[in-house]
Amino acid sequence: MIELKSAEEIDRMAVTGRFVGELLAELSGIAAVGVNLMDLEHHARRRIAERGATSCYWDYAPSFGRGPFRNVLCLSVNDAVLHGLPHDYVLRDGDLLSVDMAVGIDGWVADSAVSVVVGTPDPADLRLIEATEVALAAGIAAAQPGGRLGDVSAAIGEVARAYGYPVNGEFGGHGIGRTMHEAPHVANNGRPGRGMKLVPGLTIAIEPWFCRSTDRITYDKDGWTIRSADGSRTAHSEHTVAVTAAGPRVLTHRPGQNADSADPARKPATAH
Ligand code: MG
Ligand code: MG
Repeated sequence: MIELKSAEEIDRMAVTGRFVGELLAELSGIAAVGVNLMDLEHHARRRIAERGATSCYWDYAPSFGRGPFRNVLCLSVNDAVLHGLPHDYVLRDGDLLSVDMAVGIDGWVADSAVSVVVGTPDPADLRLIEATEVALAAGIAAAQPGGRLGDVSAAIGEVARAYGYPVNGEFGGHGIGRTMHEAPHVANNGRPGRGMKLVPGLTIAIEPWFCRSTDRITYDKDGWTIRSADGSRTAHSEHTVAVTAAGPRVLTHRPGQNADSADPARKPATAH
């Protein structure tokens, strides 16, 4: 069942989203060569507790993981792309780090992810991150009332193809609201004009993630961390978005991002 949210409920999700955006921006700023992943995890735990928020990850035990998860962040480095388990690892020059988090405040949840390079970037890694950000902006721009869910998926897939990255169909975005993972599934590839109708009050997490040279994944022995099957680098970008009568509204803007809901921070650019 898909629960449509009222304008007031979307505003409450935006309160959570603002906190998630602020904390992700902080964590991106803290991440640097020589910083331990557990420092990021402990910073996030402190901030979440101070805010009176609840991590959606803590004790999460879905069918695909070896639960329960006992962290508030997913930290995925280099070829790790999703559900990276925070562990004792010191970031090295050129590492590509994806930070993903979801919390609830007063019963309303927001979920967002960002990828950054610490130290000296490999231009190929920046291009991969850019592709996920451009795909995210394209997916957001397609989340128009009266459209179809397939429009969002197709917009993401089109950017991936333009950049030359394959798309995995197994994991993608999802409905979100009172809990982190709700219907519908928001695939990162699809056909425009297909799927459920996008109506005001629908709230979804849109989250393109790409591996540089494969659409296949493997799982670590920890039961959580998902990597590219060929060891190639990966990136992930995510926002929580509400479909409103006025168009898509991003609920997890980070400080410094364009806050105009109808104008995603990055327009799809010509791929190179
Ligand atoms: Mg997420
Ligand atoms: Mg998500």
